[in-house]
Amino acid sequence: MRTAGIKPALALLFRNRLAGLGAIVLSLVVAICLMAPLLPVPDPDVTDPANRLLRPLAKGHLLGTDHLGRDLLARLIWGTLLSLAVGISASIIAAVVGSGIGITAGYFGGRTDNFIMRGVDMLMAFPYILLALAIVAVLGPGLLNALYAVAVVNIPFFARNIRGATVSIAHREFVDAARLSGMGDWRIVWHEILPNVLPVIAIAMSTTVGWMILETAGLSFLGLGSQPPQADLGSMLGEGRKLLISAPHASIVPGAMIFVIVMSINLLGDGVRDALDPRLRSGALSRPAPVTRIERTKIANLAPSDHLLSVNGLATHFEVGERVYKAVGGVDLAINPGECLGIIGESGSGKSVTALSLLGLVASPPGVIKAGSVHLNGEDLLAADYETLRVVRGGKVAYIFQDPLATLHPLYTIGVQLAEAIRCHRPLSAQEAHNEAIDLLSRVQIPNAAARSRNYPHEMSGGMRQRVGIAMALANDPELIIADEPTTALDVTVQAQILALLDGLRHERNLALIFITHDFGVVAQMCDQVAVMYAGRIVETGTTTEILSDPAHPYTARLMQCVPELGGGRRTLMSIPGLPPALDDLPTGCAFAERCDRARNDCSEAPLDLAAITKSRSVRCLYPGEAA
Ligand code: ADP
Ligand code: MG
Repeated sequence: MRTAGIKPALALLFRNRLAGLGAIVLSLVVAICLMAPLLPVPDPDVTDPANRLLRPLAKGHLLGTDHLGRDLLARLIWGTLLSLAVGISASIIAAVVGSGIGITAGYFGGRTDNFIMRGVDMLMAFPYILLALAIVAVLGPGLLNALYAVAVVNIPFFARNIRGATVSIAHREFVDAARLSGMGDWRIVWHEILPNVLPVIAIAMSTTVGWMILETAGLSFLGLGSQPPQADLGSMLGEGRKLLISAPHASIVPGAMIFVIVMSINLLGDGVRDALDPRLRSGALSRPAPVTRIERTKIANLAPSDHLLSVNGLATHFEVGERVYKAVGGVDLAINPGECLGIIGESGSGKSVTALSLLGLVASPPGVIKAGSVHLNGEDLLAADYETLRVVRGGKVAYIFQDPLATLHPLYTIGVQLAEAIRCHRPLSAQEAHNEAIDLLSRVQIPNAAARSRNYPHEMSGGMRQRVGIAMALANDPELIIADEPTTALDVTVQAQILALLDGLRHERNLALIFITHDFGVVAQMCDQVAVMYAGRIVETGTTTEILSDPAHPYTARLMQCVPELGGGRRTLMSIPGLPPALDDLPTGCAFAERCDRARNDCSEAPLDLAAITKSRSVRCLYPGEAA
C-alpha cells in the first residue's frame, strides 16, 4: 500500500479526463456551498408571499423564488450543502460499520461468518427503499433518521464486498506468518488485513456516495427526510413537484443540481477506482486490441530470404504511463523447415515477448512494436492485415504455452476445445472435427483418446494437459510451432516424455520449432541452433554443439555454469551475481557489463553489435571467450 504514493495516484486520476471534470465540478459545488454563510444571498427560510414563484433572473433572485417566496438560489446552496453532508456521512457510517462486519466475518470465518452473513442476507432480502421507509417509520421522520436509514440500508453492500476481500487474504502466508510471530487477532486485523482491504473500501465508498445522496433525496422527496422549513435537494424537489406545470423552475433547479453532483461524484468515483486498482493501473483489465500496436520507425530493407521465418531487428516496447520498457530491443532470428531453434535466457530477458510479437499477440496497450519485420514464407506479418494474421495464428504458426491449465478453458471438455481450434481454421462439421480431435489426441500418445476427450482440463495430470496443448498446436498442420517453456511446469520424467514427443513430431512432419527455455539441458537435447537472450537482445547465436562446447559470451558461460550435470562429478553450481538491468533504463553499452567479470571500461561506452566470429556464430561482446 505505502509504496503507491499519493502523487502518482492523483496524476493517474487526472489523466482520466472525465474523472478530472467530475473532480473540478464537485470541488466547485462544494466550495460554493461551504462559502454559503459569506455569500450575498438572502436567508433561505425567510418567506415573502408577495414575491411568490418569481421566474429565474428576477430582480434580486437569480434563480427565482418558490411557492412561499423564498429565494431559490439560497435554498439551493444550503440544500446542496445539507444533501452532500448527509450523503457523505451516511456513506462513512455505512463504510465503517459494514467494513467492520465484513472484516470480522471474513477473518474469523466458520460459525461467526455464517451467523453474521445470514443476518446481512436478511437485510439484503428487503427492497432497500422499503427497508429505509420502515426504519424511518420506526424512528420518526427527520433528516438525521433518514441518514441512519440510508446508512443501515447500505451496510450489507459494504459487509459483503469487504468480507470477500478479507476472505481472499485471511489465509495468505503473510497472515500466517504474523500469527506465528505471536500477533493477536485484532493486531493482525489492524496491521495485516485492514491495509489490504482499504483500497476496496475506498473504491466501494467512491462508487456509493452518489447513490446515497440520491437515496436521501428520495426519502426527503417523500417527506420523510428534512422537515420544513429546512431545505435539502429532495425536499425542494418534493415541494416543486406540485407546481411542475405552472412553475417548472422550482423543481428543475434542485433536479439539475442532483444530476450535477451525482454525475460528478460518479465520474470521480470511477476515476478513483481506476487509480486505486493495481490491475486497472497496469492496463491488465482493459481489453487488448486483437493485434499489437505497430509503430515501426525502422524497417530493414532486406533481400528476400528463403527461410521459413526470418525476423529482423524486431523491437517491442511497453509504454506504461511515462515509462517505456524496452522488453525486446532488436532481435534477429531465422529458421528453416525441420529445424529447431532454441531461445534461452533468464526469466525476464524478453523471450516470451519476442515469441508473442511474431504474430502480433503482445497485449496493446501497453505493448507496441517499434521496429523490425517478421517474414513468414516471404510475407511481412507485421504489415499484414488482421484477416491474414488470423489465418496464420493457430494455422501456419501455432503456440504451446507453459501452463496448459491456464490456457485451456476450465468449463469445456478438451475434445470440445480441440474441435473448436480445428473448426476455427477448417470448414468441418462438428462430428468430423470431433473425430479429428480424437485422432490428434492419440497422435500425442494420450491413451484411450476417445474417452479422454470427454475430460475437463482439471481431470488430467500436468503432463497429459501439456499433451493436449501440443495436440491443439498440431490441430491445423502448422509449419512452425513456438513452444514457450512447455516443460517448465512439469517434473523431469514427464518433461523427458514431452520433449521426446515434440522431437518425434518435428522429424515426422518436418516441423520448424522455436523452443523457448531457460534450461541448457533441454537445449542440448532438442535444438540445432541457439540464440541466447539478455535484457531483450540476442547476445550470442550459433549451433548448439558449438555454443555448448565453447560459449563465447560471458553471459552464456555463466548461464551454463548454473546447470547441474549428471555424472559430472562434484562441481560447485554458480549463480550469476547481480540483477538484470531495468528495462526502462538500459545502459548505453553492454547490458551485461555490470555483472560481467571480463568487463572493461569501454564495454559500457557505446552500443555493441552482434558481430560474426565464425561463419555460423555471432556474439555481442567486445572481449568474447576463447572461441574467438
Ligand atoms: P521471459 O524471458 O521470462 O519470457 P518476458 O518476455 O515475459 O520474459 O518479459 C520480458 C520483460 O518484459 C520483463 O522484464 C517484463 O517485466 C516485461 N513485461 C512483460 N509484459 C509487460 C507488461 N504488460 N508491461 C510492462 N512490462 C512487461
Ligand atoms: Mg516467458
